[in-house]
Formats: sequence, structure tokens, C-alpha cells
Amino acid sequence: MIGAGVAGLAAARRLRTYGAHVIVIESGSVIGGRVCTLIEQGCQIELGAEFLSSFYTRTLALIDELGIRRDLHRIPSSSAILRDGRFYSLWPNVRIAFTQLVGSRHKLALSYLLASLLRHSPLLDLAAFQKASPIDDASVSDYARAHLSEDLLEYVLQPPLAGIFYWTPERTSRALLMLVLRAGLSHPTGLKLFTMRQGLGQLPHAMAVSLDVRLGTRACAVDRLPTGGYAVRLAGGGQPLVADSVICATTASVVPSLMPWLGAARLALFHGVRYSATALLSTGTRERLPCDYYGLLFPRRETAFLSSATIQAVKSISAVPCGRDTLALHMSGPAMNALRQCDDETLTRLMIAELRRLAPHYDPTPQAIFQRLFRCPEALPEFDVGHFRRLQSFASSDMEPPGLAFAGDYLGGPFVEGAILSGEAAAARVLRGRVSAP
Ligand SMILES: Cc1cc2nc3c(=O)[nH]c(=O)nc-3n(C[C@H](O)[C@H](O)[C@H](O)COP(=O)(O)OP(=O)(O)OC[C@H]3O[C@@H](n4cnc5c(N)ncnc54)[C@H](O)[C@@H]3O)c2cc1C
Repeated sequence: MIGAGVAGLAAARRLRTYGAHVIVIESGSVIGGRVCTLIEQGCQIELGAEFLSSFYTRTLALIDELGIRRDLHRIPSSSAILRDGRFYSLWPNVRIAFTQLVGSRHKLALSYLLASLLRHSPLLDLAAFQKASPIDDASVSDYARAHLSEDLLEYVLQPPLAGIFYWTPERTSRALLMLVLRAGLSHPTGLKLFTMRQGLGQLPHAMAVSLDVRLGTRACAVDRLPTGGYAVRLAGGGQPLVADSVICATTASVVPSLMPWLGAARLALFHGVRYSATALLSTGTRERLPCDYYGLLFPRRETAFLSSATIQAVKSISAVPCGRDTLALHMSGPAMNALRQCDDETLTRLMIAELRRLAPHYDPTPQAIFQRLFRCPEALPEFDVGHFRRLQSFASSDMEPPGLAFAGDYLGGPFVEGAILSGEAAAARVLRGRVSAP
């Protein structure tokens, strides 16, 4: 197994259940990949995933299997979107009917979206994204401009895309929008968000218990052996690891350098996946921040580069020591490309100045006990127009030679649930191959 993110760990656990001897190699120094909780002065900093959703059926079942359900905390409050200096809450779902974030005319246009969701319902399956390829025909922005309204695009659709996925509506397929909306809206008790008592990093750590995970071990090439099976060469030399099967659970961008022999047609899928980027500024404060919302979303109409802020004490009381707080500020979007060149100090100054301009009450700096900036150049795979068709061809053609499988959120869906489902599906494909092998 290459990669100890949640996709790789889910695959390894599944293989081990069937008696396979599994070694997981991980280039990083910690388990979890993009699910990683850092503790700074007692405060949790989520470097990657921040929350789980009530529609993560497989993840929640896994949490039960791991015996850590008691550590699952419901995030009690909602998120809010900024417009002209005021925050408007959109959740629970029913509030959309009463919000003054957009006018009645625009709310009426939402009925078109709901009708579309109903019509396409059979195509919207979180466990098989490729089924939505027939509606992978327009970006969210083109779709919204044609059938909804500019206000809905800029104040209802764009802020969560930028604040949660670090995407733009121009580079997001409407198929993805439909999938996520359906999953969120169809839950009988409404959309709920969860975290874990020790931060989401608790999940991959629990998944890795009793697995043979070798940290600081980077695969630099995977060779196909003439006798069958594979040899995984490791950076820094040493004996290659020989295995009858390999699951590659890295980001898509790593695959071509590991296996150039896959050939141009297969590699096109991996080359085609692009990732959004973000930078996270985490500020610990000695007092609670004056905020009732867990998440603040900043539309691009209001700011060129900030996309969201989360307030840890509102999210979960166990995320910070008593009386303290942490504000996590994210940036994303086209302006990031220019700003990424800035040094940490300049970027920090710019982000805080922009927060002060947008929402001065939430400026954490007067109370700051620490401030740390993290850059994430590969945050989430973009599910842009064309990606669902790539997934369709992945599912229907011989993308994977015998004994080799791929896993990751770029295949299963851009969140923890998608990564876990993709890992388990990859393990099932490898096991099927083993059973039918002569
Ligand atoms: C800032 C941010 C916020 C997010 N928020 C949420 C959220 O709130 N909710 C949600 O559900 N999801 C969220 N996500 C998405 C979620 O974290 C990912 O979808 C998921 O963790 C991806 O898991 P993965 O196993 O596919 O990939 P990864 O976690 O990237 O795992 C791949 C692993 O492979 C390792 N690797 C790479 N190359 C090699 C090599 N050559 N040899 C050995 N190992 C290698 C990497 O170090 C990494 O550990 C967020 C992501 C980010 C970045």
C-alpha cells in the first residue's frame, strides 16, 4: 500500500480482514495525509479535513467498527455567509426559505434546481460518482447563469465551493453540485456536521491501529516484475518491497512519476486531475471569540482572496482549552496564485488586514497567543467538467493492470467519505483479481 491517508488505510484494513499481509508505506512523518490534527498550546489545528457530514454513511459506520463513536461530536452551530457587512445563516436547510441573503425572486429560482435534483436523482450516487457523467455537461457558473440567477451563484453557491473545497464555480462541474446537494438535502434529519473529540486526526490513527505502517518511507518507483507482482523502489535506496499486489493511494499527481510505464492513455487520467490550493492561518486566542457561528464564508464579491473562517470553540469545546479559542482563516481562488509567492509574514499580514476589513469583530490578533501559517498546494481534486467522464472511463476500461489498483479522493469523491469508499473499492478489486488468478 502506498500512502497512509484515509484511502490507503481503508484499503489496508479491508485487505487485512481477508487475511492479506499488508505493508503501508507513507512518505510523510505522520499518519492521515490530508486528515491531520496538530496541537498547539492545547488548541487543535486541523491542517486538512475539518468536519464529517451526516451523509458520510460509510465513514460513520467505520467509526462504529473502530469503537470510537463516543468521541464523535456533533457541531452544534451553523455557518453564515457575509453580504454587505452582515452574516446570514443558511443552515439548517429550512432557513434558505427565510433568509434575506438573497431576494424572493432568487429563492424561487431555486425550485428549478430542486426539480433538477429530483429528475436526476438516479444518477446521483455517492458510492459511484461516474454515474453522474451524463450531467457532467456544464460548470456551476454556466448552469447557474442559464437557469438560476447571478445572486444565487455569487451568494449561495460560490461561497461554500470556495470556503469548503477551495474551488471556483467556473471550474466545478454542475454534476458535483447536484451530487453534494442531493446528499445533503436527502438526509431525513437534515444535514449535520461532526468532528472527533481529539480532532479529525483521531480517525486515521484509529484506522492504523494494528496495521504495519512505515512512516518516512517514500516510494519512488513501482516496477512490474516479469514473474508477476510488483517491486516498490524506495527513496534513499534500500531493498525494494516486493508484493503480488500494490494499491497506490496517493494524490493523482504522484502516479505518473511512480509508474511511467502505464502508458499515455492511462496516465491521461492522472495528468488531467487538478488540485485547488489553500493557505491556512491559525490564530490561538487567550479568550473566546465573540461568535455564534462555527463557520464564516466570504463570497468573492466581498473579497478577492479570503474564503472562510472557522471558530474552534464554537465547533467543539474539546478543540481548545477552557476559555481559549482558535480562528482558522482560509484563502483560495485565482488571487491565491499571485499571493502564494509572498513570504509567510506578508501573507499573514494580508489575511489579517482583509479579515479586519470584512469582519472586524472577529479579528483574533489582540488576543493572540500563537499564529501559524500553513500552505496546502494540493488541497482538493477539482471535479471540473470532464472529470466525471474520466471516472466513467476509469470504471469501464482496463485502467488497472492485474494486481494494481488506485485509490484516493480524486476517484471516490472530494471528501473523507469519498477517499474511504475509494480505498475499500480498490481493495475489493485487488481481492477479486486474486481470487480469479490462476
Ligand atoms: C484544507 C483541507 C480541508 C478539507 N476539509 C474537509 C472536510 O472538512 N471534510 C471532508 O470530508 N474532507 C475535507 N478535506 C478533504 C479530505 O481531507 C480528503 O479528501 C481526504 O483526506 C483525502 O484522502 P486520501 O487518502 O485520498 O489522500 P491523502 O490524504 O492525500 O493521502 C495520500 C497519502 O499518500 C502519501 N504519499 C504521497 N506520495 C507518496 C509516495 N511516493 N510514497 C509514499 N507515500 C506517499 C501522502 O503523504 C499522503 O499521506 C479537506 C482537505 C483539505 C486539504
